[in-house]
Amino acid sequence: MQNSGMLIIISGPSGSGKGTVVKHLGPEKNYALSISVTTRKKRACEEEGKDYFFCTTEEFERMRNNGELLEHAVFCGKYYGTPRVYVEEQVKLGKAVVLEIDVNGALQIKEKFAGAVLIFLMPPTMAELKSRLINRNTENKETIEARLRRANEEVKLIDKYDYLVLNDEVESAAARVDTIVDAERLKPCRNLVIINSFKGDVL
Ligand code: 5GP
Repeated sequence: MQNSGMLIIISGPSGSGKGTVVKHLGPEKNYALSISVTTRKKRACEEEGKDYFFCTTEEFERMRNNGELLEHAVFCGKYYGTPRVYVEEQVKLGKAVVLEIDVNGALQIKEKFAGAVLIFLMPPTMAELKSRLINRNTENKETIEARLRRANEEVKLIDKYDYLVLNDEVESAAARVDTIVDAERLKPCRNLVIINSFKGDVL
């Protein structure tokens, strides 16, 4: 079956495990992962060009002003954006392009691309979210508090999303995302080539 490419947006509060779930998505499912540009500092565990493209505020603003970003947002005082060209190329190749982005970016994408699939990832409880954020030890106390305040705002927007996936266990959460993508690929609107081929057949 010939499938068209699509945008899969994964949002969820800081500490919901988006990055880990994305790493566990089915390798056979024809995904492409978008790598964002950000002005926030690189963490010790992160790699340039793999986790993010890290840049200065001036570089980010230049990219934004040149229309090089598909969407962009400010998160806890830092810029984040999705480079346009890679995403467009991969969609043309029929890939399910995964964008791991915040709620503001997700809503910008939904506005521009009605066919984008919005998935909100949550740990089972807010208490669990808090302990994950503290235990991963990548941010100082002040940043953790800012991210928790932000999480409270983000969960208010869950109803704007197409799907809610609970991240109780990484493999199960990734399998749920794979299932969503499989089902989305079966939608008639994503299979117009094959539908049009039926229309020409006279029995
Ligand atoms: P972190 O600093 O924890 O890597 O990311 C902070 C937040 O920014 C997360 O919610 C993450 O999904 C979001 N984010 C990462 N890249 C992008 C992007 O390109 N655009 C937008 N709008 N949000 C992003």
